[in-house]
Amino acid sequence: MKTSIAVVGVIGAGAMGRGIAQIAAQAGFSVLLFDVQADAASKASQLIAEQWQKMLSKAKLSAEQYQRALESLQVVNGMQDLAQCDLVVEAIVEKLDVKRGLFQQLDDIVSDACILVTNTSSLSVTAIAAGTKIPERVAGLHFFNPVPLMKVVEVIDGLLTDAAVAEQLMAFSTQTGHLPVRAKDTPGFIVNHAGRGYGTEALRILQENVASFRQIDQIMREAAGFKLGPFELLDLTGLDVSHPVMEAIYHQYYEEPRYRPSVITAQRVHAGVLGRKTGRGFYSYN
Ligand code: NAD
Repeated sequence: MKTSIAVVGVIGAGAMGRGIAQIAAQAGFSVLLFDVQADAASKASQLIAEQWQKMLSKAKLSAEQYQRALESLQVVNGMQDLAQCDLVVEAIVEKLDVKRGLFQQLDDIVSDACILVTNTSSLSVTAIAAGTKIPERVAGLHFFNPVPLMKVVEVIDGLLTDAAVAEQLMAFSTQTGHLPVRAKDTPGFIVNHAGRGYGTEALRILQENVASFRQIDQIMREAAGFKLGPFELLDLTGLDVSHPVMEAIYHQYYEEPRYRPSVITAQRVHAGVLGRKTGRGFYSYN
């Protein structure tokens, strides 16, 4: 397996991929960003450059660090351009078959020494790895949104992950200024498993008309000390991401009733009322 990571590929230039590319380039890794959607990666790269510009103006980056970060980030137009990567981070749609397909494609592009990681929130790392020719080099690297601000990251060992790979990922995460926490591959890992209590129960309270979503958010912030209420968090994450996460954890635990997803979020997904990204979620953002 790899002894050092220099070139990092990031696949998917949405909220997560953009953040991962930013922190990796800022830390001095050479980053290649790819998205299947035309222009998504170049738009993400512009947004990242704007973040760096802001950091420069607030003296959070020196002129030299700013210049180096800009030079470290490159948009690529095809998966083939990731051939030279030492590490590839996948942050695409939360669908097992799509992720498995992507990892199988990567198998034929990168060298056998390249580490492949998924940023999945809830899918089985072991199942994603099982479709590849070297499951030992596949792991989970689960960042949180927004990546530059949320310093914790889960490093997830699939059933067959080589311990040396997980250790490399712990070191990589630390190099990006993040705080890695190692977890076994289980549905939802640590945060999204514990978070079921927060999100799913809040939705039940709403469904039972005990309180409004605003009241629930307010009390969880002010009395329970959370930074964001459960509905503010759902709006930030986006229901297109968090509802499938709820479904995935529920199904992986063999329909355990306490993990049952909510009809409230299902309906909102159908309506395209997804949260901040659509300008409307539980709250309005226009
Ligand atoms: P997003 O919708 O913002 O971005 C996904 C991007 O992936 C899009 O730009 C899309 O065009 C691209 N994409 C889809 N299929 C692709 C493919 N085959 N090849 C290349 N690009 C492809 O999603 P996101 O919120 O960034 O989430 C991405 C992943 O990170 C998901 O697995 C999600 O569960 C996980 N995650 C999300 C959060 C969160 O709070 N949003 C937190 C932790 C983990």
